[in-house]
Amino acid sequence: MTFKELGLIPSILRTLEEQGYEKPTPIQQQSIPILLKGRDLLGCAQTGTGKTAAFAIPILQHLSMPHHEPKGRRKIKALVITPTRELATQIADSFTVYGKYTNLKNTVIFGGVKQRAQVDALRRGVDILVATPGRLLDLINQRHISLKGIEFFVLDEADQMLDMGFIHDIKKVIALLPKNRQSLFFSATMHSKIVTLSKQILGNPERVTVQPEQTTAEKVEQNLYLVTKGNKIKLLMYLLQTHEMDSVLVFSRTKHGANKIVKLLLRDGFESAAIHGNKSQKARELALNSFKQGKIKILVATDIAARGIDIDELSFVVNYDLPNVPESYVHRIGRTGRAGSSGVAISFCDASERPYLRDIEKLINKKIKVIHEHPFINDSLEIESSQPERKHGHKRKPKPASHSKSKGSSGGKNNYWRKRKTGGPRKPS
Ligand code: AMP
Repeated sequence: MTFKELGLIPSILRTLEEQGYEKPTPIQQQSIPILLKGRDLLGCAQTGTGKTAAFAIPILQHLSMPHHEPKGRRKIKALVITPTRELATQIADSFTVYGKYTNLKNTVIFGGVKQRAQVDALRRGVDILVATPGRLLDLINQRHISLKGIEFFVLDEADQMLDMGFIHDIKKVIALLPKNRQSLFFSATMHSKIVTLSKQILGNPERVTVQPEQTTAEKVEQNLYLVTKGNKIKLLMYLLQTHEMDSVLVFSRTKHGANKIVKLLLRDGFESAAIHGNKSQKARELALNSFKQGKIKILVATDIAARGIDIDELSFVVNYDLPNVPESYVHRIGRTGRAGSSGVAISFCDASERPYLRDIEKLINKKIKVIHEHPFINDSLEIESSQPERKHGHKRKPKPASHSKSKGSSGGKNNYWRKRKTGGPRKPS
């Protein structure tokens, strides 16, 4: 299947060729024909699958039709809402790239910065608006934005929107949209609250699912390092020294944790920066640009901040902390191995994170390979002393160690949690 076979217009095909996109990704193959027909879409897909082009291209194509030629000042005809500033900027950039040879204009609005430049851009007239919910409602209330002319509405990363407490803002926006419109709804997960929300937005949608398991299992090498909480920073530094890591995105569960990791890395001479919600927009952009330009090789991020990071050459993802929501693991490791390239995802796991690991392995339907050959392997009693929760409350007898079998792989079920017979840290091989 080629882009041409999807029925795209020459002005869009030209830019895709320039971008070096050889063929549509699965989500693009499935979604573009549905959207070109004007149907509503419920998409279950994560960032990294080519989702942005899957919705941006059909919208650009519809808006390039002669009847959409602006008469007088341009009116906003397409609205995309997305949870984070980074993601909003990235989506607007994608519209600019894919629409390079069309006559369409877009702009992006988000909070945390002065509104002046955004209002000026809106006054000049745009066809496509990408927004985070809070600033969007602000500017609507100030009458800088009218949604009366919206024909295309996209709600992106719906699960993250709900996690971030945007539900009321979204409902307010939906109430202002014209009834007659094409709506697109994307979420990485489809739990019941998401399905309920989608029903309030979509008519009779077609469904498209791109399984996260496929993206993770097929393309990304996943390794697990068992380590105590206290040794995680040493292990990270050890890996940075022993692996050729050109660009590594390190995930921390908390903002405070991200700052702490960067502080310790900088202290030991590892150039790095943190990116999370407490940082100003300027600081985030500075960190991201330094990382993209290769000035710093290590970026430490929280899940939410990382959502909008689009870096093509990300070779390593390190889960310094395992996420407590298993879907976040899939999101995180999807940052590497994007659109066909391969990558490595490294996860650290301490005793307290065992339940998270179990949930992740259940979701991805496989055991993550355990790497034993490192000096910080956690063979302390800490792990066995914190027994996993069990359904019926009875205690599981500790099984004898059998590390010879499990060396280099996860071996049998929970093998890697057994205590090794020999003490002391292992030397790297
Ligand atoms: P997204 O899921 O929209 O964040 O896209 C992930 C990455 O894949 C972005 O860097 C896109 O530029 C890239 N991409 C999207 N579609 C294609 C394609 N058909 N071929 C190659 N790369 C693509």
